[in-house]
Amino acid sequence: MGAPGPLSLNTATVRDQWNLAQAIEGCARHGIPGISPWRDKVAELGLAQSAKHIRDAGLFVSGLCRGGMFPAADAAGRRAAIEDNLRAIEEAQLLGAQCLVVLGGGLPPGSKDLPGARAMFHDGLAAVLPAARAAGVTIALEPLHPMTCADRSVLSTLGQALDLCDEFGAGVGIALDVYHVWWDPELAQQVARAGKRIAAFHVCDWLVPTTDLVFDRGMPGDGVIDIPAIRAMAEAAGYAGPCELELLSHHWWKQDPEAVLTRAKAAHATSC
Ligand code: ZN
Repeated sequence: MGAPGPLSLNTATVRDQWNLAQAIEGCARHGIPGISPWRDKVAELGLAQSAKHIRDAGLFVSGLCRGGMFPAADAAGRRAAIEDNLRAIEEAQLLGAQCLVVLGGGLPPGSKDLPGARAMFHDGLAAVLPAARAAGVTIALEPLHPMTCADRSVLSTLGQALDLCDEFGAGVGIALDVYHVWWDPELAQQVARAGKRIAAFHVCDWLVPTTDLVFDRGMPGDGVIDIPAIRAMAEAAGYAGPCELELLSHHWWKQDPEAVLTRAKAAHATSC
């Protein structure tokens, strides 16, 4: 069994309860050494203020969520997505984030052209990669479970993400989120293939039954994913970084955030 790596709190976990300042203070209070903020929370507090507050609290930034989402209905939409990603790269640099998490984005509204949407993702990535390299920001491609292909991510598997890593080379890695890849029959083989390109490791659990395709994720240990086994695969591939808890859950969003962090620390110690 691999060691879980230092815990980092993805702010989506306490999205409805806390703003970024509260999440930073919560991490510091609970001895959670890392944080991964979402961009809307950073914008709310202000970029410079966010960076200062995180630095003053002594936290590391395991990632910034999120960029990508390149497919769009027209050229203006695709251009806007690229410009937004260029801003995200600057934000990640200023925050000292270990990576910028990049999602595929879904099909443009009304479209049935999945290969076309994947081509738009490819081209969007190509357009922003030079800026990411210049800024020293690692792009972490995060494949999402194929159930989200229509509306969130035309990037569905590790194999597909690693094909892009192979093509683009330096500056592109993957965010390995156990929730999205645990079902993949090629998981072990693709994690080994990823090697040092694993830039982030996200955890939560798959509940049975799952009542919401996006917002019913479980605390590690409450579901069916063998998280330590996946962690061990990642470590064998060369990953020794943080273990980022990313819990998008209507259930956990209703709980006292202090209790969520207490449970998160226990779950990290026993089930990651
Ligand atoms: Zn994730």
